[in-house]
Amino acid sequence: MRSPLPTLPKAELHIHIEGSLEPEMMIDLAQRNRITLPYESVEAVRAAYQFENLQSFLDLYYAGAQVLQTEQDFYDLTWAYLQKCAAQRVCHTEIFFDPQTHTDRGIPFEVVHGGISQALKDGKNQLGISSGLILCFLRHLSAEAAMATLEQALPYRDSIIAVGLDSSELGHPPVKFQSVFDRARAEGFLTVAHAGEEGPPDYIWQAIRLLKVARIDHGVRCVEDPALVDYLVDHQIPLTVCPLSNVKLCVFQSMADHNLKQLMDLGLCVTVNSDDPAYFGGYVEENYTAIAAALALTPKDLRQLAQNSFKASFLSSAEQQPYLDALATAL
Ligand SMILES: [Zn+2]
Repeated sequence: MRSPLPTLPKAELHIHIEGSLEPEMMIDLAQRNRITLPYESVEAVRAAYQFENLQSFLDLYYAGAQVLQTEQDFYDLTWAYLQKCAAQRVCHTEIFFDPQTHTDRGIPFEVVHGGISQALKDGKNQLGISSGLILCFLRHLSAEAAMATLEQALPYRDSIIAVGLDSSELGHPPVKFQSVFDRARAEGFLTVAHAGEEGPPDYIWQAIRLLKVARIDHGVRCVEDPALVDYLVDHQIPLTVCPLSNVKLCVFQSMADHNLKQLMDLGLCVTVNSDDPAYFGGYVEENYTAIAAALALTPKDLRQLAQNSFKASFLSSAEQQPYLDALATAL
């Protein structure tokens, strides 16, 4: 049977735009901006993509982000990602950006935001892809630095739908950012957070109770706490799961060991996402394909995952409905 995947409308809810920086673009931008990288070729960059854990990936990820300098660079990065979305029938995307990765090396917030948001506008007008922008705080940095970043974002409030929490999870529990998230919600932002990828189930509880998140990013370790699973099911708090990322960063030893199907069978609202597609081996479609093959997912499972991706999004019910209608008859 031919895979129904390419024709299914899908939404992506967990993508770090800096993580869509393909080696070819990294090399091109380094030349354009006269930056010396520790890699001389696309092959050398790819060869470095052997990670032992989240931290070993982050070290390379922050090095790669140095090539992003101008508004045009951020535009080109985002536009390349949107073209992938168009090719894979990703009709809606909610993307993370990490302003501190750039402002801390002297790139103004408005340069980062300007390039990304212009590409997202063009994506809507030229490709028909709707989007939301989510500002992520780097959790290995201080709560004070996160608060300063939130304040920088306030003039752009209308174009940023939510705030999130990413980077090194262990040792940086959600409680560290409680006051920042309190302020963000008071300013009208929705909230999400990475939790339960490498961190324990308690970090997921903290994200729910202290940060009042609408979604948990990753969350795969929730299964270690049955009461938490019950809570996530009862409240249908979605998990944005990233299969290729999880295997590449050794959260699971192999795709066959992934617990995505177990999570679905428990009644959780699971979605499939790419996380950092340039670094982990694929975009949304490659993630669906890999997990479907490894766990023998049925067409019905794939439809459920695609439906979940819209239901878990920040689109209004009216905006979700055409996609849900299309999916109802898609298979
Ligand atoms: Zn992530």
